[in-house]
Amino acid sequence: MKKWVLLAASLLASPAMAADPKADAARIDAVFDKGYPQLEMLYKDIHQHPEIAFHEVRTAALLAGKMRKLGFEVTEKVGGTGIVAMYRNGAGPTVLVRTELDGLPLLEKTGLPYASRYTQEIDGKVTPTMHGCGHDIHMSWWLATAQALLAMKDRWHGTLMFVAQPAEETVEGAKAMLKDEAFKRFAKPDYGFAAHVMPYPAGTVLLKEGAVTSAADAVKIVFKGKGAHGSMPADSIDPIVIGAHFVSDVQTVISRELPPGTFGVITVGTFHAGTVENIIPDSSELRLTLRSHDPEVRKQLMAGLRKTALAAAAMAGAPEPDIAYLYGTGVTFNEVKLTETVARKLKVAMPEQVTLEPDYKPAGSGSEDYSEFVNAGIPSVFIGIGGSSQAVLDQAKEEGRKPPVNHSPFFAPDPEPSIRAGMKALTLSVLSVAGVE
Ligand SMILES: [Zn+2]
Ligand SMILES: [Zn+2]
Repeated sequence: MKKWVLLAASLLASPAMAADPKADAARIDAVFDKGYPQLEMLYKDIHQHPEIAFHEVRTAALLAGKMRKLGFEVTEKVGGTGIVAMYRNGAGPTVLVRTELDGLPLLEKTGLPYASRYTQEIDGKVTPTMHGCGHDIHMSWWLATAQALLAMKDRWHGTLMFVAQPAEETVEGAKAMLKDEAFKRFAKPDYGFAAHVMPYPAGTVLLKEGAVTSAADAVKIVFKGKGAHGSMPADSIDPIVIGAHFVSDVQTVISRELPPGTFGVITVGTFHAGTVENIIPDSSELRLTLRSHDPEVRKQLMAGLRKTALAAAAMAGAPEPDIAYLYGTGVTFNEVKLTETVARKLKVAMPEQVTLEPDYKPAGSGSEDYSEFVNAGIPSVFIGIGGSSQAVLDQAKEEGRKPPVNHSPFFAPDPEPSIRAGMKALTLSVLSVAGVE
C-alpha cells in the first residue's frame, strides 16, 4: 500500500526523464484519432459476429489479414484458431501483447443498434453468440496497439509478438497455443502484456501488483445410487438425496475450513439427475467450479470437495462417486518490478486515468488463462480497463443496482473510450520495456 504512495512522491522529486511519456501519449492519441473510424467499423463487425471457443475462424482470418497488411509476419492456426504475428525492429526485447478471440454462447440483450444476432452451429446444436466478455474490445485495442507501435518505430527497439488466442472462456486456448509450441516456434517473450475491459468508468486504467485473477478448477462428480420406483424408496439408494447433501455440505469447506477472510469459492453450477417424477434414478451428475488465490488453498478446496463427496455417498451406503478433474488454470500474477515500471510510465502519461493499488481492488474471483503464459515464465502485467459509460453507471445507481458485468447479456462497454484507454495503456507498457530513452 505504501509502495505506491512513495512511488508517486519520488516521481515528483525525480529530474525530467529523457523520454517524455506525455509526448508518447499524445502521439498514440493522434494514431487513434486518425484510425478510429475504421477501427469502430471493425469493432462493430466483430461484435456482430461472435464465435465461441475454438470456432473463431472468421474472427481469426479477419485479424490475421489486418496484421499482415500492417507488415507483421503472421502465422495462423497455432493451437487451433490462434494467431502469432511477429514484427522485428532491431535488437531489443521480445514483447508479447495478447488478445482473446472468443465470444460466449449467450443471447445478447443490450438493445444496441449493432447488437449480435449471430448464431453458430456447434455439434449439431444452434446457439446464439455474444461478445459478452468484451473480447471484441480487446481485439480492437490489440490491433490499435500494433498500429501505434508501427507508427512510432523511432521510439522502441526489439520484437513484437502479437498473440491472438482462442478459447479463453474455457481456459483452454493459451494452453493449446503453448502445446503447439508457440514459444519455441516463434520466440519466448521477455515480457508480456494483456488487458481486460471491466464494469468500471470507461477509460480508466487499473493497475495492481501480485495476483490479479483467481485460479479456476472445474470438476465433475457422478454419484452412483440404485434406481427404483418412486413409491419404493427403501429399494433405492437415492443419488439425488446424496447430491443434495453434498451441495449444502460442501459449502462448509469454505465457511468452516478456510480461515475467515481467505479467498475461496466453491460453486455447484449444474446438477442433473432423473427423467420423470416417479423414478428414482441410479445416478446424479454435478459440475463445480473452484476459485482460489493461494496454491495451498487450491489444494485444500479440492481435498475438501473430495472428502465431502465420499462422505455423502458413504452415508447413503452408495458406492464411491466418480470425481473427475475437467480443466483449470492458475493465478494471473503481475510481476512486481515490471508493474512498477509500467505504473511509473502510465502515471506520468495519463495521470487522470490511472488508478493504482490500493485504490483499485479487482473482484479477484474471475479467472484468466493468460495465467498460462505467466506460468510459462513470462514476466507480465495484466491491466484492467474501465468500459462502462457514465450513462450506464448513472442509470444503475438510480435503479439501485450494480451496472451490468462481464458475461451479463446486458454488458455493453462504450467502445471509443475503452479501446482508446486499452490501446494507450498497452502501447505505453511496451514502450516502458522496449522504449528508446
Ligand atoms: Zn469471460
Ligand atoms: Zn474475458
